[in-house]
Order: sequence, then structure tokens, then C-alpha cells
Amino acid sequence: MIPYGRQDITQGDLDAVHDVLTSDFLTQGPKVPAFEAAVCAATGAAHGVAVNSATSALHIACLALGLGRGDLMWTSPITFVASANVGHLCGAEVDFVDIEPGSFNMCPEALEAKLERAGAAGRLPKVLIPVHMCGQPARMERIGALARRYGVRVVEDASHAIGARDGTGATGACRWSDITVFSFHPVKIVTTAEGGMAVTNDPTLAAAMERLRSHGVTRDPALMAHPDTGPWVYEQIELGLNYRMTELQAALGISQMQRLEAYVARRNALAERYDRLLADLPLSRPERGADMLSAFHLYVIQVDPSRRRAIFDHLRGAGIGVNVHYIPVHTQPYWRRHGFAPGDFPKAEAYYAGAISIPLFATMTEAQQDEVVSALRAIL
Ligand SMILES: *Cc1c(COP(=O)(O)O)cnc(C)c1O
Repeated sequence: MIPYGRQDITQGDLDAVHDVLTSDFLTQGPKVPAFEAAVCAATGAAHGVAVNSATSALHIACLALGLGRGDLMWTSPITFVASANVGHLCGAEVDFVDIEPGSFNMCPEALEAKLERAGAAGRLPKVLIPVHMCGQPARMERIGALARRYGVRVVEDASHAIGARDGTGATGACRWSDITVFSFHPVKIVTTAEGGMAVTNDPTLAAAMERLRSHGVTRDPALMAHPDTGPWVYEQIELGLNYRMTELQAALGISQMQRLEAYVARRNALAERYDRLLADLPLSRPERGADMLSAFHLYVIQVDPSRRRAIFDHLRGAGIGVNVHYIPVHTQPYWRRHGFAPGDFPKAEAYYAGAISIPLFATMTEAQQDEVVSALRAIL
């Protein structure tokens, strides 16, 4: 089976993890800050807070922005469920903004109309989480400007998009947002097995997220009620979690980050090759926004919805590990129990009805890609 995504682990990665295992620190040592520095260097963000998953990063990002009971959080319906779940985990209500068909990302025009209605009704969200679906940056300049106009804080879910760029710079520079979150799950661009990071340019938010990932505890005398108690003193000043990343994961991440540009370049080269090889088939290929460099986490084709199931089954039967990203979150049973129903976000549902993610990963060979294309050609 050719998987839809797969990690790349080199001898250098193995050596880096092995060295940590025989060192003094398995957690809370020097590798985590070094990994944070590597991600900041690649993205242009000032501060990084590494955690055990992107879900954890989204959670502490929302908590640091003060999202809580009585508040609203909005995200895209075409995302992994985690982007929406973190709103409920904070005690807030969640709603969605429909996508634009070309990029599969949150539609700025739909956002503007919804903000206008919410503003008039006095029910503006506190936090907005746009998602860079498939690695293609959302139109952050527009989304960020709208959020600023309405006083809404922004967390970019860039789980798919480390290494991506738009006209204003690298994804993660937080030019139009408060915080950007990355995932290092094995199918994503670079991996730490499980892991995530929140980056920001705001030192106060960074410090808050550092406390939240580690029990709400601080050793900063300036924040303590009784700093003179003794040299051992730490104080819990708020409620936090244990979302820390291990040194093993960080060492793997540092080693992987050295190949970030090469990975994104290879994914783009394979995507362009798919574009050429699929050009004459009855399907639609992902659009590229002007000035955008997608990280190409996923290559999603859209086929006639009435034939999607047959095409999917044929590809799986031919040893092609296709998948579907994503079932619109608002149609999941959990979210239906919270008031959503099919029909609520028609563009997201129309996208989903024809979507198939075909294999794309940095170590994919042209021969494997040719196999995918001929299996598609046979059924289409
Ligand atoms: C993978 C993913 C997440 C969650 O990432 P984890 O690191 O597995 O917690 C969140 N949002 C999106 C869009 C994702 O693809």
C-alpha cells in the first residue's frame, strides 16, 4: 500500500534521539528550547512554546488569550476535529465560518458577513482559528484585518503549513495573528512522533503559554507572592496542564527541521507533477493562490460526488492509500448534539462530497506517483 503520507527518518535523526537517551535530560533539558529556536528561525516568530501535540498548543493558545465560559470561538468546518474541540475544552461556545471552494480555507467574505451580523447582535467571537488547509495559507491579510476591526484575537492552525509562505512572509511569522500553531504528527511536514508548537511575537502570551504547559507554575520572582521563601521556591499562580514535550521529541524535531525547505520543495515538485499527469482527467486539482507557497501537506482532488465512493474503493483496492480530509466537523455526531446539522455550511459539505486525498510525502518516488496516476486513470 502506498500511504497518503509517511514520515522520513534518517540515520541523523536516529543518532540525535540516541544521544538524548544517554544524556542527563529526558525532559526539560536543552533540546526543547533549541527546537523552539529552530522553529522561530524558520518562521520568523519571536517566541516558541513546544508541547506534546498541536491540539495541546491550540488549547493553551486559546487559554492564554482568555477564552472561557460565555465566550465564542469560530473556526473552519474543513479541519481536523481538534481545531473546534479546543473551544469547548476552554468552556467556550463554538461556531464555524464556511470555506471558499478554491483554497478550501475559511472564506474572508463569509467571515466579514458573519462578523457584521455578530457585531450587530453583540455576539462577536473572542478567538478566531483559521486553518491553512493542505498547507495552502489562508488569506491572512484579509482575515487578520477583519479580526482587528472587530477586536477578535486570531490563532492560526498551521498544523499543515510549516514551511509555507504567502505574499507577506513565512507562515508562523504571526503578521496577522496573535499565535500560530504547528503539528509534528508523523503525517505532517516534519515530525517529532507526537508534538506541536505555538509561536508568537508577544512575550506576555509566550510566558503565559509556558506556564500553562507546565501546571501554571512559575519560577520568575517578579510573578511570585513570596519569592524570598528560599532557593527551592516555585509558585503555582494559575491552573495549568502537563503538556510538555520530551527531549527525545525535541532532538528529533531539531534534526528534522534541517530538511524543512527540502521537504517543502520536494512536496511542491511532486504536486506540480501530479498537476501535469492529471490535467486531462475529469477531476479538479488544488488551486494555488497568487503569491502563495503551499507546504503541500495534502494533495486533494475532487471528483464527481456520485462516483467518489467507487473511485475511492478502486484506489484502495489497487494498493493506493487514499483518504478523505475532512468530514465537515459540524456534521460529526458530537457537534450535531450541540446544535449543528448538515446544510449549515454548504460549501464545506460540497467540497467534502467529492474530495479524495491522494498520496503525497517527501520520500515518494516518481514510480509510486505513476502508480497512483495509472490507478486513477483506470477508474476515471
Ligand atoms: C493534525 C492536526 C491537528 C492536531 O494535531 P496533533 O499534533 O495531532 O494534536 C489540528 N489541526 C489540524 C488542521 C491538523 O491537521
